[in-house]
Amino acid sequence: MTKVLMVAPEARPFAMTGGLADVAGSLPAALQALGNEVNVLLPAYRSVPLAQARRIYDDLPIWLAGTLYETSIYQIGAYYFLDCPELYDREGLYGNARGDYPDNHIRFAVFCRAALEVARRIFRPQVIHCHDWHGALVPTFLRTIFAGDPTFAGIKTLLTIHNLGYQGLFPREALTEIGLDDSLFHPGALEFFGHVNLLKGGLLYSDALNTVSKRYAQEIQTPEYGFGLDGILRERSSVLAGILNGADYTTWNPETDPYIPAHFSREDLSGKRICKETLADEFGLSRIRPLIGVISRLVDQKGTDLITKIGESLAKKDLSFVLLGSGERKYEQAFLNLAVAHPTKVAVRIGYDDRLSHQIEAAADMFLMPSRYEPCGLNQIYSLRYGTIPIVRATGGLDDTIDEDTGFKFEDYGGEALLSAIQAALAEYRKPEQWTVRMLRAMSRDFSWNASAQEYSKLYCGIL
Ligand code: ADP
Repeated sequence: MTKVLMVAPEARPFAMTGGLADVAGSLPAALQALGNEVNVLLPAYRSVPLAQARRIYDDLPIWLAGTLYETSIYQIGAYYFLDCPELYDREGLYGNARGDYPDNHIRFAVFCRAALEVARRIFRPQVIHCHDWHGALVPTFLRTIFAGDPTFAGIKTLLTIHNLGYQGLFPREALTEIGLDDSLFHPGALEFFGHVNLLKGGLLYSDALNTVSKRYAQEIQTPEYGFGLDGILRERSSVLAGILNGADYTTWNPETDPYIPAHFSREDLSGKRICKETLADEFGLSRIRPLIGVISRLVDQKGTDLITKIGESLAKKDLSFVLLGSGERKYEQAFLNLAVAHPTKVAVRIGYDDRLSHQIEAAADMFLMPSRYEPCGLNQIYSLRYGTIPIVRATGGLDDTIDEDTGFKFEDYGGEALLSAIQAALAEYRKPEQWTVRMLRAMSRDFSWNASAQEYSKLYCGIL
């Protein structure tokens, strides 16, 4: 049983942009169910319903490089919210239409300093569990500015890397702006090819590290996947673990999902046909052709370039294709063009839509996830539970969660390899008995949070 303070930049249902929100929204409860005491600190973004929260700490002053930030702490259940309107009450979490906020280093430095104040005044943890570059300054502050502070003696740190592609890179001046000494600007500390790299500090100074699948923990130690940090990760490999994310089956369950038009289960699959027909009718697609779904951020990491590359070939096949996503303009436009060219075979929705994402999971026969790299990935796990057969690239968490019995995998990052995996899936789809066996196997796979929470519990004990 461990007392844990999580420091997370997003958590469902308060603020979300990606898989980290699902993790910080579900893992704490799963850890508590095992007897751990867990609280989570989040910034009080505009999306956080502070009116429903309890104000538990007034006037918490945070000094950063000579500037005072007046903050206060609110609470809803296990979640603490750091209120500082000038920093967090903004349109987006990390940026707006013009790009990332230029003061993100200040925003997350204040956040990490506040985490230490929470540990000092409100909830004293044994482990501070930080997530991504946004939380990575906690171990850095502890090992530098606060190295001699007896308040924090004995507190251990764990940093979880949800995506090594996002490192928190800033110009050199950022170092002093966040209250760190310029002497840390060298390759053995926070310097990274002329920039300050906040994630790198976390990698160097945390007591333990983990990422969100075993395969990704191996991959990031190679130059191909290491984004320039593979050397440090190799040096720290003895404290680097891989723990798969879980799925929240209270939200992702075809037997109870409130967003879908009909429910279904392994015992009775008939509702899945209704889900497919409803979605097909709504989008003007065929009710009969095999339906391939995609729900994704439209960025290079997700293999979006591969899907656009094979778009025309896909549209020529005997299938329908439905995509929900948002991201880079060029990809959004390419998919919209494809839908205009093939209105009866391709349907595209640009945006973030929770309800539709459930409806696509329930309706589709196959789910496409050809990621260039994938730390864990959640949609392929949800797909399994909905009997929607994943077609994935064998990388990171996709490789760890999908096997020959449940899905179709390909290795090479290229259009041909992807097309032949789709072809193999389509061929089996034409053999309904075989396909149903595959669906039932997929639906019986269990990636619930309990197993992951047990591994995190063990990891906390190991660090202590
Ligand atoms: P990542 O964190 O890299 O974006 P994950 O697969 O780990 O990828 O998690 C993505 C999460 O965000 C999933 O829960 C997925 O359903 C959701 N998601 C992504 N894009 C959309 C969208 N356009 N609409 C609704 N949900 C989305």
